[in-house]
Amino acid sequence: MTRVFNFSPGPAALPEPVLRQAAAEMLDWHGSGMSVMEMSHRGKEFIAIHAEAESLLRELLAVPSNYKVLFLQGGAIGQNAFVPMNLLRGKTTADYVNTGEWSKKSVKEAKKYCTVNVAASAEASRFTSIPKQDGWKLDPNAAYVHICSNETIGGVEYHWTPDTGDVPLVADMSSNIMSRAIDVSRYGLIYAGAQKNMGPSGLTIVIVRDDLIGQALPITPSAFDLKQQADNDSMLNTPPTYAIYIAGLTFKWLKQQGGLAAMGEHNRTKAALLYDYLDATPFYVSPVAKEDRSLMNVPFTLRDDALTDAFLKGADERGMVQLKGHRSVGGVRASIYNAMPLEGVKALVQYMKEFEARHG
Ligand code: PMP
Repeated sequence: MTRVFNFSPGPAALPEPVLRQAAAEMLDWHGSGMSVMEMSHRGKEFIAIHAEAESLLRELLAVPSNYKVLFLQGGAIGQNAFVPMNLLRGKTTADYVNTGEWSKKSVKEAKKYCTVNVAASAEASRFTSIPKQDGWKLDPNAAYVHICSNETIGGVEYHWTPDTGDVPLVADMSSNIMSRAIDVSRYGLIYAGAQKNMGPSGLTIVIVRDDLIGQALPITPSAFDLKQQADNDSMLNTPPTYAIYIAGLTFKWLKQQGGLAAMGEHNRTKAALLYDYLDATPFYVSPVAKEDRSLMNVPFTLRDDALTDAFLKGADERGMVQLKGHRSVGGVRASIYNAMPLEGVKALVQYMKEFEARHG
């Protein structure tokens, strides 16, 4: 068996020990005689798996006690509707900061439910930076302020937390949740699909402050109603049981790595290795403003775009896969989430040097 270095933006690489444990427990979880996939979500075995996953997530992110943690479905795209339906709370406007493709999708969906005020946009700079907060035009009557903390396609990331006063801050953290320590108390609601840093697709994590729960629009589907899901411990309907189990194993692995402070350090080291090399040569180009560069998704182009296909093919042959840039931007994108080891980034940089020596 050969495992590749998988630079996929998501669904993405998982820690090998997690996959090994899941494989070992596939047919018989802890003497139950069943796979986790075959368990009732209301049985004592799965209730314990669910509770442990939640408790590990709370511990890792230091989630305050006045926040609920929900394990839902529908993905981050579902959240684009879920958020306005639940958080408008009698208001008619919401602020959105537009930093790229994923923010744009959030804005488009929210417009079905409310008036969207785009408080700031990086569109003019082709989404190569995060707009500074002193230029944001926030609406004092907004129900919430929505940001995408890491744009998976454009490769820009907030390295600071916006201050929105009493207006709840909502963040799509799909591609950088669990990559470093954050202060959850600065947010009203955080959501993320699991398939980059937490587990398989199919699971959506929502972390929400208690006082924001309970005022959903009457049209809100029950499965999307924060209160109904919170009152039922995310089990209003059948939750994505296997994905929750894998997320729990991933959280355990994260804890063994030293938690989020240590993981943040590790991720900084990995990203620096790649960005330092990109900055050291004109052969490759990183389009993103230095202070806003994502530590998770590193897009770059080759000065001579005609070489891109050869670059990707050569990488593939060396066991470095899924490096193709998003179809909307082209080029190359290295996604280096928690499960990407330092050796993977070293191998990529080594290959980039060799490719440059051959074609530069
Ligand atoms: N937001 C961000 C930042 C993402 O990276 C993605 C998926 N790549 C989404 C939203 C959409 O997530 P999903 O496909 O789980 O709905």
